[in-house]
Amino acid sequence: MDDYLEQILHLIEEKGYARAVDISSNLGISQASVTNMLQKLDGEGLVKHEKYRGTVLTEQGRKIAGAIVERHQTLTRFLRLFGLDEETIYRDVEGMEHHVSRPTLEVIRAVADALEGDGDFLADVKGRILNDGQK
Ligand code: MN
Repeated sequence: MDDYLEQILHLIEEKGYARAVDISSNLGISQASVTNMLQKLDGEGLVKHEKYRGTVLTEQGRKIAGAIVERHQTLTRFLRLFGLDEETIYRDVEGMEHHVSRPTLEVIRAVADALEGDGDFLADVKGRILNDGQK
């Protein structure tokens, strides 16, 4: 469900509306599944369908989608500090964001802020990272 809301927000920011066909191709999910999920989200008051426009977020849907996008950005910002390749970062963020709790995300945000503000601290941490990721 998070992936849908995230994708709907991206599409709305890009085009002003989200169409099932675009959600389907961006997420690699069948259009029938997307239609089912949109009906579920509609039932929960998170999206509504507007004739000739497509799917838009309700105010509550926008709030939740905004928090989802922010979580994605915080995790990405944290992992980018360490020189990991973008593909690894994206894949890991897509996994982590489904499991991370609010309190843990807040810890990660605080550590990212501290590392961004202290080059010596960041260099020290990076110096402790083993190249092949193995101990
Ligand atoms: Mn994401």
